[in-house]
Amino acid sequence: MYYDNLDTDTTIIAPATATGGATSVVRLSGPQAIEIADALFRGREQLSDADGYTLHYGRIIDAEGATLDDVVVALFRAPHSYTGDDTVEITLHGSEYITTTLIRLAIAQGARMANPGEFTRRAFLAGKMDLSRAEAVADIIASDSQWSHAVASTQMRGGYSERIAELRNSLLRLCSLLELELDFSEEDVIFADRMELQAILNSVGNEIERLRNSFALGNVLKEGISVAIIGEPNVGKSTLLNALVGDDRAMVSDIAGTTRDTIEATTTIEGIRYRFIDTAGLRTTDDKLEQMGIERTHRTMANASIILHLASADNPQFESVDISNHQSTDGKQQHYIRIINKIDRQTVAPTDTQMLYISAKHGIGIDTLRHTLRSVADTSGLHAGDVVVSNMRHYEALCKAHEALEHARTSLQANYPTDLVSEDVRNILHHLGEITGDITSDDILQSIFSKFCIGK
Ligand code: GDP
Repeated sequence: MYYDNLDTDTTIIAPATATGGATSVVRLSGPQAIEIADALFRGREQLSDADGYTLHYGRIIDAEGATLDDVVVALFRAPHSYTGDDTVEITLHGSEYITTTLIRLAIAQGARMANPGEFTRRAFLAGKMDLSRAEAVADIIASDSQWSHAVASTQMRGGYSERIAELRNSLLRLCSLLELELDFSEEDVIFADRMELQAILNSVGNEIERLRNSFALGNVLKEGISVAIIGEPNVGKSTLLNALVGDDRAMVSDIAGTTRDTIEATTTIEGIRYRFIDTAGLRTTDDKLEQMGIERTHRTMANASIILHLASADNPQFESVDISNHQSTDGKQQHYIRIINKIDRQTVAPTDTQMLYISAKHGIGIDTLRHTLRSVADTSGLHAGDVVVSNMRHYEALCKAHEALEHARTSLQANYPTDLVSEDVRNILHHLGEITGDITSDDILQSIFSKFCIGK
């Protein structure tokens, strides 16, 4: 989706809720929001006479004066609204017909349909929130587990922005010390204590490093922990995936090699999201299609955080798999769990305390497996309110900031001229500023907000 019209002096309208609910909310925001709403709304008083933060019960009428619906209007006056402009939120009965008719009526009065993310983009441009907080709005709407919500919520409430602002302040202080020295360079005076400069750089560097490292966990919390289910054909991989996610997502059959493609399904275990990938069976075959599936299995295995290796109780053998080179997406060694399935059919004397014994078909041992999956997901040290980086764009900016910081450190140690050090420090500031939107381009904004839904 691209923006064809991004003026900020028009009044925009869009549904803020998905269809299908009992009520629906339409958002109208911009300089004429109240005037347009007044043309359509009949309540006890005119909205233009009312204070902000008030609710009004009344009717929406069409051009002929016929009632479209009974509604409740919430009024927000600039600058005390989400976008910073006058905003009216109209709660209607949740009919698609009513919603679209209201939008049509408002457009006839001079509003225009909002582009994706345009409300939040206006909020950003009005200085109501920085870019990282605006991006967190999208994340919080998409959050589907306790921890992805916690990470987005901290970011949206500004915890992350504050941390970046502190780093920028330290660096600005560093810049001013360096630039003072530069002003008097003719006189060959050294004002800035190089040890102090080094100390500031070190402390900023440590925090950038901590934030950078938190991305592995943040990404996993946001995207889900990937779990590859591997094993020979027919050992019960698809059945296990179905047992774990609780619906029939994977096709199950008695014919060996049924699961040719990888199948993904997600579920949440104790607040953490897991992405299970049911792979094609691992075995030697001449079937070209199956060979392709097996290659895909190896790629899936290489990228997974956890591997569940299944064998059947009829034949409790595990073909050897080499995972020594694999690193899971959280930057740690992969977890490899061996499971004997179909214990309802054949009892197997437990030989290995690390091995799990289950029946995917009859739900035996599935709770223990869930518990094991939860316990290997390392969320220790993660508390609600922690700043964890979960956005790839921020991670990339932090990596560039880190690179610039290393450069500055080297320049400082090598006693390079002050203007060179100062330029390095400005580079760090630049990359940190990209995260909060202090430094940004229209292209970046467009790419961020175009990923939002309409109405956000
Ligand atoms: P995959 O090829 O490894 O994905 O295996 P499937 O999940 O398609 O299962 C192959 C066959 O084994 C199916 O007929 C399943 O119903 C059966 N099966 C899977 N798990 C169990 C189990 O725990 N007990 C028994 N008796 N049969 C199972």
